[in-house]
Amino acid sequence: MTLPSLDARQHTDADPERRTYEVRTYGCQMNVHDSERISGLLEDAGLDRAEGTVADVVVFNTCAVRENADNKLYGNLGMLKAVKDARPDMQIAVGGCLAQKDRETILRRAPWVDAVFGTHNIGALPALLERARHNAEAQLEILESLDVFPSTLPTRRESVYAGWVSISVGCNNTCTFCIVPSLRGKERDRRPGEILAEIEALVADGAVEVTLLGQNVNSYGSEFGDRGAFAKLLRACGSIEGLERVRFTSPHPAAFTDDVIDAMAETPNVSPQLHMPLQSGSDRILRAMRRSYRSTRFLGILERVRDRMPHAAISTDIIVGFPGETEEDFQATLDVVEQSRFATAFTFQYSKRPGTPAADLPDQLPKAVVQERFERLTALQDRIAAEENAAQVGRTVEVLVTDQQGRKDDRTHRLTGRAQDQRLVHFTVPEGASVPRPGDFVTLPVTEAASFHLISDPLPSEYALRRSRAGDAWDRSLAESCGAPTPGTTPSGSVLLGMPSLPARSTAP
Ligand code: SF4
Repeated sequence: MTLPSLDARQHTDADPERRTYEVRTYGCQMNVHDSERISGLLEDAGLDRAEGTVADVVVFNTCAVRENADNKLYGNLGMLKAVKDARPDMQIAVGGCLAQKDRETILRRAPWVDAVFGTHNIGALPALLERARHNAEAQLEILESLDVFPSTLPTRRESVYAGWVSISVGCNNTCTFCIVPSLRGKERDRRPGEILAEIEALVADGAVEVTLLGQNVNSYGSEFGDRGAFAKLLRACGSIEGLERVRFTSPHPAAFTDDVIDAMAETPNVSPQLHMPLQSGSDRILRAMRRSYRSTRFLGILERVRDRMPHAAISTDIIVGFPGETEEDFQATLDVVEQSRFATAFTFQYSKRPGTPAADLPDQLPKAVVQERFERLTALQDRIAAEENAAQVGRTVEVLVTDQQGRKDDRTHRLTGRAQDQRLVHFTVPEGASVPRPGDFVTLPVTEAASFHLISDPLPSEYALRRSRAGDAWDRSLAESCGAPTPGTTPSGSVLLGMPSLPARSTAP
């Protein structure tokens, strides 16, 4: 059994006369969300999302965090040069963190690029493309700080049942491995009323889940002098009717306070799930990383979270092989991982990121050492994840059905969704039972577990389907993609949201 994917329904009704666009996204969720805005801006400017062929406008939304990001970008730009030589009207734009960092270098190394824009001026893209076309000259515009909060821009949402909502951009911390502070600037917080208005508009359009997004959500409010602002925001989300799941990423262990734990535990629609980046279990390495918490504080947070939410699924990020990391330091990381019982861990091998303080530190470790430690860490975490998932067998979970498919779903005819704590669940619809749509909810027992997912093969009596507004919105978007667009949607039937059309909301939580 397969569900139609969002990709499958994109632009079946595209107008052949209109120009098309494609956004190629690299990097983190912040970039994924920025790409939704880039798509919204281009659709607002009259472009259609491309199907199959190379688009008339190709935008690279780049990331500077990964090693060799620039080589990959120039490789991709090189491949597009031949296409552009054959189609001179085609335009190429480069934005995101690498553009913010490399600026003129991009136009020097790839002079066939038409526009370069930074992380602070996404909204300028349509104007830059238009200017480049009119003047027949590449346009470069990078701002040092934010002019307009990105959430005020039109957004082409990738999902009808779930959405990202930015609460802040930038970061006031100075972790030595991270390029974000120099590329995204100091933290800027959005006012709570604006955030809640965007969430309400998303929910009115059918979404049942939102993820609040910021580089460091726990310092949210510092710009307008309210240290309790994030906990208040979570509680305010609790009173938005129709909003069934609230998640957030990323918190920071140094700034994570008990009022947030209380708000999570006491607000029923906040998911029992926490992504808490550890980075290292060695206090010496945390100091070198300029991360101001220590391992005991980190473990204390997890204990308090589990005290209030015993079934919370906790995930993390860990960097292996930071400069100067000894075997003893690494062992400290293994010890913290063993005690933390993470449901999932995103593990990274340290690699130099030009422009970060850690890139100049002595004692960079040989690749072989980093690789060997990485394998030990992932083996440990895989074992823990398998044990934690095995403990879920027998539990009844409510799953939000998604349009994503597991690798084996075609073969097993299972559908896929996420439990309330975000665990991935592949499930069978019992013979004769109603099939859910993406955005609907099913309640069923966990019958099997593996390291990275749960399986449910329920009996008919164990399976309950709850149709939702999000499922209705999914149906509408499918119907619209096959017919004439309805007011308030883009020609593709995708959801086009922009703050200017949102209902005004002046009350802060
Ligand atoms: S908290 Fe540290 S790792 Fe996270 S964005 Fe800020 S500087 Fe980067």
